[in-house]
Amino acid sequence: MGEVTELKGQQPACQTDDGAGATCACAAAGGLEDLYSVPVDRRVMVIGGGICGITAAIDLGNADYRVVMVERLPSVGGRMLQLSETFPTLDCAQCTLTPRTVESGQHPHVTLKTCCEVVGLSGEPGNFRVRVRQNKTYVDWSKCTGCGTCIQKCPTKSYALFERDAGRMTAIYTLSPQAVPNKPVIDADRCRYLTKGKCGVCAKVCPVDAIDYEQQESYFEVEVGAIIVATGFDVYDWKTKMPELGGGRLPDVIDGLTFERYLSASGPTAGRMVRPSDGVEPKEIVFIQCAGSRNPELHKSYCSKVCCMYTAKHARLYKHKVHDGQVYIFYIDIRSTGKGYEQFIQQSVSEEGIIYLRGRAAKVFQEGKKIMVQGADTLTGKKIEIAADLVVVAAALVPNEGAEELAEILGLTCNKDGFFVEEDYKLSPVDSGSRGIFIAGCCQGIKDIADTVAQGSAAASKAQVFLSTIRRQKKQAV
Ligand SMILES: Cc1cc2nc3c(=O)[nH]c(=O)nc-3n(C[C@H](O)[C@H](O)[C@H](O)COP(=O)(O)OP(=O)(O)OC[C@H]3O[C@@H](n4cnc5c(N)ncnc54)[C@H](O)[C@@H]3O)c2cc1C
Ligand code: SF4
Ligand code: SF4
Repeated sequence: MGEVTELKGQQPACQTDDGAGATCACAAAGGLEDLYSVPVDRRVMVIGGGICGITAAIDLGNADYRVVMVERLPSVGGRMLQLSETFPTLDCAQCTLTPRTVESGQHPHVTLKTCCEVVGLSGEPGNFRVRVRQNKTYVDWSKCTGCGTCIQKCPTKSYALFERDAGRMTAIYTLSPQAVPNKPVIDADRCRYLTKGKCGVCAKVCPVDAIDYEQQESYFEVEVGAIIVATGFDVYDWKTKMPELGGGRLPDVIDGLTFERYLSASGPTAGRMVRPSDGVEPKEIVFIQCAGSRNPELHKSYCSKVCCMYTAKHARLYKHKVHDGQVYIFYIDIRSTGKGYEQFIQQSVSEEGIIYLRGRAAKVFQEGKKIMVQGADTLTGKKIEIAADLVVVAAALVPNEGAEELAEILGLTCNKDGFFVEEDYKLSPVDSGSRGIFIAGCCQGIKDIADTVAQGSAAASKAQVFLSTIRRQKKQAV
């Protein structure tokens, strides 16, 4: 942690910085006036705007604390935004999430700072000064009305991170039609104007002159009493690290998050089941669980916890769409410890006719149009070979990129796998061990939405307890 910086009373610490022409990030992305309407011991920063961070922010806002939520993507929602329907209830993820994202965006006590990242911390518990970088969006959000004309007219359509392998997006985009905030950003690596100096269509069609190809990144500082870190997870790089599964080489071998995009009504195929290589409906699907998980010799030693359940969900959702389809699931053993989870798995077998094969799939290769999956059923001792149309890999889940750098900035500890370490696993699961800083959701360890939301609320509650202790101590010192 850097040196203790003198506080500026109740004045917003928002400032321009670093380089000529840098504009004030607060002006671009919504001011911090409300945050500074209360003393520092009633202000909290939440880092990460997934379902965990959103839950923490809304809880704190409802308790009359002021919250600034820092999210590095253009909009909030996290991974849940990419999901189709969610186990164990099979509710539509977007329908569950959207009221929460909208509430976080409209809450009078929550200020969203998207396309932002924490780059420095000074001060002390109860009185932190956090330095934040506002990354370039190339759109002046203070002018943009979110009309979407630029997105409709942009001629560049290519691979989109959000859609994974499943779809393409324009170079100027929002992450989803209901994005919060609903303002576009330009992907500088794909935009024709920013890469080749050609095009400029979005600037021509924008009715309010909001496109700003010259925009620079800027910095601002925020003074808060406590910090909640909820930076979530990513998918293990199974394509590079597990070539035996054919990922990257074989278009019809995809991972679970990509399959979510194919299942999703708001995804690139509007929920239609297709084989990526030719768009034909797949009639035989093989799911491979524990790809990279529970494999201490070669990959990750831990269980990724949600894959057994989401694979059963995938299999069931597929069967709801392709009634005559056949599903095989390779598994080591089934871990379904949540409320109602075991019944969910049992129904997959008894009602949907899904075939579970105990054992690891050893080899995946292309033969004509088919993907051949070879493995062994360890219960019968027989070798198995299935000719599939599509293979879906439940790859290990890992901490989000940049978690270790953030840990260094905030003075947190990561375990050998990069997850933030809690003060005491059983008794203080959301305390980070650094006073005033709390950890919650998948950045602490992989968990389902129910447990993630519980931790988000727990962290909000612990932050309030911490700040009320600070207030009491201040009063006693007077
Ligand atoms: C394929 C798949 C299917 C699933 N299906 C289900 C299901 O059906 N039911 C269920 O209960 N669970 C399911 N899950 C689990 C569910 O996705 C997680 O429980 C949930 O998304 C965790 O939320 P989170 O907020 O902790 O993390 P995330 O959703 O990962 O959100 C973290 C946020 O932090 C942001 N961030 C990261 N680093 C930084 C940084 N340095 N600065 C600022 N922001 C940052 C990210 O951009 C992101 O928006 C599934 C998971 C997968 C992979
Ligand atoms: S300038 Fe870039 S973002 Fe704008 S329309 Fe052209 S390719 Fe799309
Ligand atoms: S056309 Fe202009 S106002 Fe409309 S969404 Fe694009 S940048 Fe915003």
